[in-house]
Amino acid sequence: MLNTKISVLTSKKQFITLIAILSLLIAAGGYFYYKSQLTSIRQEKYNELKAIADLKVNQIQNWINDRRADVIAVTRSPFFIGGVNQWLKDTGNVQLKQEIIERLRLIQKEHGFENIFLAAPNDRLLLSVITISEGFHSIRKQIITEAGIKKEVVFTDLYSDQIEKKIHYDIIAPIINGNKTIAILLFRLDPNDYLYPLIQTWPIPSKSAETVLFRTENDSVLVLNELRFHRNSALKLKISLTRTENPAVEGALGRTGLFEGTDYRGVEVLSDIRIIPGTNWILVAKIDKSEIYSDQYFIAGIISGFSIFLIIICGIGFGFIYSSRQKNIFMELYNKEKELWQSQEKFKVTMDSLGDGVITTNSDGKIQYINKIAEELTDWSLREARGRTLREVYSVKNEETGEKENNILHKVIKEGIVKELANHTILISKSGKEIPVMDTGAPIYDNDGSITGIVIVFQDETEKRSQLKLIKENEFRLRSTLDNMMEGCQIIGFDYRYLFLNKTAFIQSRITKEGIIGKIMMECYPGIENTEMFSVLRRCMEERISAVMVNEFSYSDNIKRHFQLRFEPVPEGVFILSEDITERKQTEDTLKESDERFRSLFENSTMGLYRTTPQGDILLANPTLIRMLGYDNIDELAQRNLEQNGYEPDYPRSKFQSEIEKSGGIIGLESKWTKKDGTTLDVNESAHAIRGADGNVLYYDGTVEDITKRKKAEEELIIANKELVFQNEEKEKRAVELLAAKEKAEEMTRLKSNFLANMSHELRTPLIGINGFSDVLRQDIENPELKEMAEIIFNSGSRLSETLNLILDLSKLESGNMVFTYQQIDLVSEAEKIISLFKEAARKKGLYLKSSYNQPSIFINIDPRAFHSILNNLINNAIKYTNEGGITVDISLKDIFVEIKVIDCGIGIAKEYHEIIFDEFRQVSEGYSRNFEGTGLGLNITMKLVKKFGGEISVESEPGKGSTFIVKLPVTNAGEIAVEKNVIKKAPLAVITG
Ligand code: ADP
Repeated sequence: MLNTKISVLTSKKQFITLIAILSLLIAAGGYFYYKSQLTSIRQEKYNELKAIADLKVNQIQNWINDRRADVIAVTRSPFFIGGVNQWLKDTGNVQLKQEIIERLRLIQKEHGFENIFLAAPNDRLLLSVITISEGFHSIRKQIITEAGIKKEVVFTDLYSDQIEKKIHYDIIAPIINGNKTIAILLFRLDPNDYLYPLIQTWPIPSKSAETVLFRTENDSVLVLNELRFHRNSALKLKISLTRTENPAVEGALGRTGLFEGTDYRGVEVLSDIRIIPGTNWILVAKIDKSEIYSDQYFIAGIISGFSIFLIIICGIGFGFIYSSRQKNIFMELYNKEKELWQSQEKFKVTMDSLGDGVITTNSDGKIQYINKIAEELTDWSLREARGRTLREVYSVKNEETGEKENNILHKVIKEGIVKELANHTILISKSGKEIPVMDTGAPIYDNDGSITGIVIVFQDETEKRSQLKLIKENEFRLRSTLDNMMEGCQIIGFDYRYLFLNKTAFIQSRITKEGIIGKIMMECYPGIENTEMFSVLRRCMEERISAVMVNEFSYSDNIKRHFQLRFEPVPEGVFILSEDITERKQTEDTLKESDERFRSLFENSTMGLYRTTPQGDILLANPTLIRMLGYDNIDELAQRNLEQNGYEPDYPRSKFQSEIEKSGGIIGLESKWTKKDGTTLDVNESAHAIRGADGNVLYYDGTVEDITKRKKAEEELIIANKELVFQNEEKEKRAVELLAAKEKAEEMTRLKSNFLANMSHELRTPLIGINGFSDVLRQDIENPELKEMAEIIFNSGSRLSETLNLILDLSKLESGNMVFTYQQIDLVSEAEKIISLFKEAARKKGLYLKSSYNQPSIFINIDPRAFHSILNNLINNAIKYTNEGGITVDISLKDIFVEIKVIDCGIGIAKEYHEIIFDEFRQVSEGYSRNFEGTGLGLNITMKLVKKFGGEISVESEPGKGSTFIVKLPVTNAGEIAVEKNVIKKAPLAVITG
């Protein structure tokens, strides 16, 4: 209620403020709009004035210019000048005079002149279009004379003709013939015809606007035209130059453009001042300010009227909204009130049906309401209690200390919701009965958040407390039991808080009770949430399932201990039973490790390992043994009994057993076992018996080595030994035979050489006789027949001796009896000598024989006879096997050898003979059908000699295309080579001494 009122009031104030602000805004908006309109009106009027002034100035200027043009057109017309000139000479010519007048009349009519006069240059009037009675006004005389002298068109200003009582405006133009002014024409204009109406008209409707023409005269300005508000003013009304507020005066003082001032009537005007070019006229276009402001006042009226209208509309609108809102608020208030009443009723019924006692007070602690249960428990009825203090009706004390709690109201107001107002609260009823209660006090807030009272809710706990006591006793018993357990016990709450730890658990955790109870696990052991233990715990917590695990726990000092943890879900969270199994684990690990080590040894041993019962049943066998016996796995092998089948018949198991019985074990017993496939295995076995406490053999443990291969190798070795002995005997025998053969062969060679040597001696001696005497005979005998016979004898003898020499050389070479004498010889000169010997033979066959060398001298350390033999053979063959062309001998020194080429153009040699021809007695054409003489020894001997000097010989040839025999002799092996001069110098020494 209170709040609603406040809000209603606030909103009324708000409305008024809102309207006031809006009105202010509208008024300000109106004012600014008015201001902007004012500026634009003024600007508009200024622009108007300016435009009109521009127009007037232009029109006046054009009028003057037009008139000047008219006058010039007339006075410069040669025809007219001629006419006037003629008439001036004969002024009595009436007809001519009339013609001139007629001509001028035409112009006067056409261009709207008032009158046109012709005067002599001395100002004497000669004639005029309209006849006038009087002469010229004195003012013009001077001007006429001036125009005559200057020979220019001259304008009089507006002037008042005193005689005619009229205002005139004259244009005076001289008539010039040749260079002489013969007469003057005066064109008279009436300003009322055109100029004044032009000035006085205003192009748009206006009450006060007008244009005024002024000119300065002495210390004032003279009005030149008739004014709108002043009769008879033209050339009469003067304004003193001191009146600077007047626009005309300002114009006279040199100002042009817009000006705000007072006009001739003393009325405030807005004006535009102009000077008309080519004249001394000042033009002022002006309008009364009041005329401008009349629009302004009208606009001001409209804007303020509209603003007031807007404000009224807003006021009415807001008033309407405000009143309808008020109506709604009151409606709402009414409904709220009704609801409140209903809810209070409902509240009372609800409160009464509650199982708990409820007491509410106001902020002073005065009871406002107590429900039924509260009535029963406190012995106070609602009626009695209402308005009394809380302390009176709800009197409580601390069960343990017996102290009364007198400050409930303040406690609740200060602390908010308070559970257990007096720690194990005892309520003392009006009748003095003490009832253990569980109570809660809470403040009551209004909408603004301020406390309006408190509420106390309490329930009878008599029964609950006695049960609690029982539970506590039980818990105590349980705790002491748990505390004395060997295992650690802990209860972890659903929020992972340590709720309980027994003594062992404290010891295990190494944390004091204060340091752990009530704390969250993650606080005590940061990072625990990432451990496997924690995930097992979480699973147990969330899925409510038991779990067991072994956990390695590291303490802060890096000591690690192993715990077997059992997780059990309990109503408080999870119960963990922890047993320190570090020592047990260590023993287990050691055992496991040694077991593994043994197992690895067992599995990986290259020896077979086994354990059998004394009866021969196989209990254990390592993979090596299983493989050795040809089985796939232990199960298969275990089916076999060693007693029954296992040992070869010659090696019974009884032998093995009796040996073990005798000495407790066997070492390196060689026997034969039968494999799965029936084949035999040679083994080397060691074993010992394992006995039980009673001395009986439990089983045999043994090792088995497969020695089959070794056995086989041994056997093979024996056989091989035997064979070796036999082979050695054979070899010795053959060696003896070979030695005998060698000796025989050597003997044979010796015999052959001796034979050959003897033969050659025996054959040569008679040949010398035959050759010598046949030579003498063939030269001396005259008889041709006899001479030819002697010739044949000589040739045959020579050939035989040649053959003999060759055979002899070959045998010497083979038997190693050839003696070489090394000398430094110049191959070039030596070759030349040999070649010269063949010149005759070549010539006879019609062949050329040339030589070429890449050095002038090529020195080499060689046996000269051998060199002769080599080159001889090659040139001899070349000539023999060439029928056309000739032979070229080329010797050239290459880096480390000398190359000797014998090139012919002969029959050539087929490829398949290239190697054969170097063999002994081999020729391309052999047998009786051969075409050429020869032994087939020449090339063989040549090759042997070449090789003797470390060189080589080869042939390049094709049948019909000639042959090239190439001999390469190494420089180093054959002897030193001297090509340079200094070496050449030494060479003869070598030759002499050699
Ligand atoms: P021969 O005494 O037969 O000439 P050689 O040992 O000197 O013995 O030659 C062996 C053979 O090589 C000759 O019989 C001949 O067939 C062939 N021969 C050697 N030199 C030439 C050559 N320059 N042109 C063709 N054939 C040749």
